[in-house]
Amino acid sequence: MSTFEVTTARNYIAGRWTGATGGAVVVLHNPATGAVLGEAPASAAADVDAAVRAAADAWPRWRATPAPRRAEILYRTAELLVRRKEELARLMTREMGKVLAETRGDVQEAIDMTYFIAGEGRRLHGYTTPSEMPRKAAYCVRQPLGPVGVITPWNFPMAIPSWKIVPALVCGNTVVFKPAPQTPLSAAAFVAILEEAGLPAGVLNLVCGGDEPGRALVEHPGVAMVSFTGSTEVGLQVAARCAARGVRVSLEMGGKNAAIVLDDADLDLVTDALTWAAFGTTGQRCTACSRVVATPAIRPALVDRLADRARRLRVGDGLDPATEMGPLVSDAQRARVEQYVGLGRGEGARVVVGGGRLAPPGLEGGFYFAPTVLDEVRPGMRVAQEEIFGPVVGVLEARTLGEAFEVVNGVRYGLSASIFTRDVFAAHRAIEEIRTGIVYVNHGTTGAEVHLPFGGMRDTGNGHREGGLQVLDAFTEWKSVYIDYSGRLQRAQIDRD
Ligand code: NAD
Repeated sequence: MSTFEVTTARNYIAGRWTGATGGAVVVLHNPATGAVLGEAPASAAADVDAAVRAAADAWPRWRATPAPRRAEILYRTAELLVRRKEELARLMTREMGKVLAETRGDVQEAIDMTYFIAGEGRRLHGYTTPSEMPRKAAYCVRQPLGPVGVITPWNFPMAIPSWKIVPALVCGNTVVFKPAPQTPLSAAAFVAILEEAGLPAGVLNLVCGGDEPGRALVEHPGVAMVSFTGSTEVGLQVAARCAARGVRVSLEMGGKNAAIVLDDADLDLVTDALTWAAFGTTGQRCTACSRVVATPAIRPALVDRLADRARRLRVGDGLDPATEMGPLVSDAQRARVEQYVGLGRGEGARVVVGGGRLAPPGLEGGFYFAPTVLDEVRPGMRVAQEEIFGPVVGVLEARTLGEAFEVVNGVRYGLSASIFTRDVFAAHRAIEEIRTGIVYVNHGTTGAEVHLPFGGMRDTGNGHREGGLQVLDAFTEWKSVYIDYSGRLQRAQIDRD
């Protein structure tokens, strides 16, 4: 039986699967039923220390391994992911609840990223350039950083780790991976596949658990760089700790994504696209559409249609092929969503549909919440400003394009946004004016492709990008090389004749 068919995750340190020092465990629950699913190590600082030491020991050999050879292991990884896609998807649905079509997509994203980045093993381009001196060569190359720390959330348990681990490895870094406490099984399955593909011991290490090992990883003096995806609150703390140690940190954090809908939009398309963007992954996507900014003329019909679709969504266990929306990841997350809906009501928003817990027959122990549409939302309300991370979408009104841009930009986050219109002038103005890392035209706010940069502006990120070739900049540093073959002293900027 392969490692990821069992429901007990282990840490993976220096090529060995092991429990936490002291044997503490986190008990895992299937969010669709509330039933116990398995367990994982509740690691502490000592486990992180062992993992960082293993990564440091493995680094000299790994960085000396030619990048095309490193990439061969990644190609094999992608092939194994393709072969195991269905079982990985089923495991992930049981672990964090999203429907099978989406967990298949999550694995597919890891496959796409791994194939894409493995190609960099034969590129990792630097450049050559003329020197200002005769008989002098000048070029620059990328160099790995050392052992890097990877900290991830639970909503894309395989895609997000792949966005970080695969580029880190092809660039010649070793990795200590601390997944979210809710999704250690998917994390262990991904690591097991890299092991099976031939990754040498110590190059990738897994330490399961919650914020304690997360903090220990960020503070460990042996960690050369941290790549973090999660909430803005935690990300900013991670950034402060990294700043104190003077190490690089790449942050992907929260979002409050908005779609603008103009009078000339195709309402059928808008309804399909926004139902998917708002309620896909039960609204637990960093790019989920949480605000719709509509013109006064189109708003009533749009609210009716969105509410009708929300009412008819089949909510249940993500393993059931008929299910369109699964549960929230945990009871705590459901309580948070419920609290926000209460806040919205208190602030004067109108609950058009949903607004409360659901208990589908036979699934009463699961963490379900009804797809919810709030109307008459105003820009200053907390439900219009804060990330809810659940199946709740608020509809706001804007009379002009300029007002719509102000609403979209009037939050602390800047991950993704969209505009629905047939007017090419309005679309181009949106692309120019909206301050987010991703802009869609005639599409919802979700759905990134791995070969384009992914990330956000303002409180969503700190300028780094994942995906695209831009991710290589997070995991390498530049070295400039000068080779003087003139046989005499040539001083730059001084010896000009
Ligand atoms: P979270 O911030 O609670 O946790 C993220 C990770 O950080 C987990 O592994 C957690 O154990 C760890 N952690 C917690 N405290 C820590 C600390 N003090 N030091 C170090 N590590 C610590 O986020 P979550 O609930 O797992 O995920 C949801 C959040 O992730 C949402 O805000 C969502 O928008 C964001 N997210 C962002 C992106 C993006 O690309 N921008 C993608 C997915 C999710």
